[in-house]
Amino acid sequence: MKQVKILTRYELKNTGGVIYHIENGSHARYYTGLYTSGDCTCTCAHGQSAGSHAHCYHVDHCQKREAARVVANKAAAAEVAARRQEDALAMAELAAEIAHESMREMMHATARMPERTRRSSLNDRELHFVDGILMR
Ligand SMILES: [Zn+2]
Repeated sequence: MKQVKILTRYELKNTGGVIYHIENGSHARYYTGLYTSGDCTCTCAHGQSAGSHAHCYHVDHCQKREAARVVANKAAAAEVAARRQEDALAMAELAAEIAHESMREMMHATARMPERTRRSSLNDRELHFVDGILMR
């Protein structure tokens, strides 16, 4: 049975390649390396004899896993971008709503302060207000 179980995945920070520590169906463990140069290595007998051009089923399995990772990462990145755009839209809508609301309030405030006349309780003089401001 050509089973491959991935135990660990290491990223090579300097070169961008990856090393997989894997276990096959008979519990033998190998290190499979995929490099950005296109080279592949594996510590199994097949891989070792092939040097930096290993293409045993371990390499094949790890390559498929990497491809799936890339697809998954791209989908995740697209989702994050879409959410950010949604957030930006929601913020813009909110800002527009707030601006509209404060404009309405301002107009209301002006409307609520019509011209009016009051009689002073101190000296019974007539006090004339326009927009809440005492006119002399
Ligand atoms: Zn191998």
